[in-house]
Amino acid sequence: MLTKDILKKVIDGERISNEECLQLLQYNDILELGEVANEIRFRKNPENYVTFVVDTNPNYTNVCEIDCTFCAFYRHKDEPDAYTYSVDELIKKFKDAAKRGVTTVLLQGGVNPDLPFEYYLELVERTRKEVPEIHPHFFSTSEIIGMSEVSGLSIREVLIKLKEAGLNTIPGGGAEILSDRVKRKISKKKGTSADYLNVMREAHLLGYKTTATMMFGHIESDEDIVIHLESIRKLQDETGGFTAFIPWSFKPENTPLEKHIKSFASPYRYLQIIAISRIYLDNFPHIQASWFSEGKKIGQVALHFGADDFGGTLEEENVHAAANFINKSSTEEVIDLIHGAGFDAAQRDTLYNILKVYAQNAIKIL
Ligand code: SF4
Repeated sequence: MLTKDILKKVIDGERISNEECLQLLQYNDILELGEVANEIRFRKNPENYVTFVVDTNPNYTNVCEIDCTFCAFYRHKDEPDAYTYSVDELIKKFKDAAKRGVTTVLLQGGVNPDLPFEYYLELVERTRKEVPEIHPHFFSTSEIIGMSEVSGLSIREVLIKLKEAGLNTIPGGGAEILSDRVKRKISKKKGTSADYLNVMREAHLLGYKTTATMMFGHIESDEDIVIHLESIRKLQDETGGFTAFIPWSFKPENTPLEKHIKSFASPYRYLQIIAISRIYLDNFPHIQASWFSEGKKIGQVALHFGADDFGGTLEEENVHAAANFINKSSTEEVIDLIHGAGFDAAQRDTLYNILKVYAQNAIKIL
């Protein structure tokens, strides 16, 4: 099919196939892709605002035994800069963050086999009780699989207990590229694509909402990206549990994978991925522009390529920082950046409920 016919199909509200998605990934007119993606964005989210959440991304431990080759963050437990925070220390951090207006804590860590399952349950329970202003958005699929191994419980049982403790959303980290050809090469101890999807499926069936992510720009092919998008579109058809899709590009510095990569993802590639995600993932309500991983200017441009959400303000971020990619911001700056891109800014919570709209020329409290 001609590419213009594929794009017409999209405008007519039809779902595109995997082959058509692959064709779009090899299509050079990025502005045309952006225009179509933007039209779909406004059909799904017609308001002229871009959402953001006031959040922070601390890490409770950097101890990990999975050895992903793209990761600059983790340490083995006997290394001098390995750390694990106690529950008390984390609660204090959350209380301090809440005082500064943070509403969501996205908490992840390494897969640390020395931490008992009770540590995670206590952390969720105490966060809910002692810092009720904070929504706990805790633990990637890898950590949940780790909890299952440490406790001897099934994934479902782990998720039930975490839910009873007060968790109801999970971040989408740990996907990278959901193609086992790629996973075997960059994260062979991390489990398969099916393992990631299985945790997400069980979580959705228990009523959790989660995001889905994708880290591209390393050894994947266009075909691997299509496999990834297909896996999450299928699961979303089945469960409807994903709130948003968040793609970002691989940050190579200080990682073992760096020396095996010939070229890294360009801003052009990022914008193409954002637009195609919006077009292909017709059952996802939100696509997030990841300013912190691509740079603020590219984040702004992505808002015209199909993204409707600007992610979090990220008071603290250690994973990209370990790869020497440091991109700090504040609530005021995020609002300014959204305004600068031509939109009102809407502060949301983890579940995408709107808390406050900051119009471009005034402040409106809902
Ligand atoms: S990406 Fe996560 S699981 Fe992999 S090595 Fe880093 S901390 Fe461990």
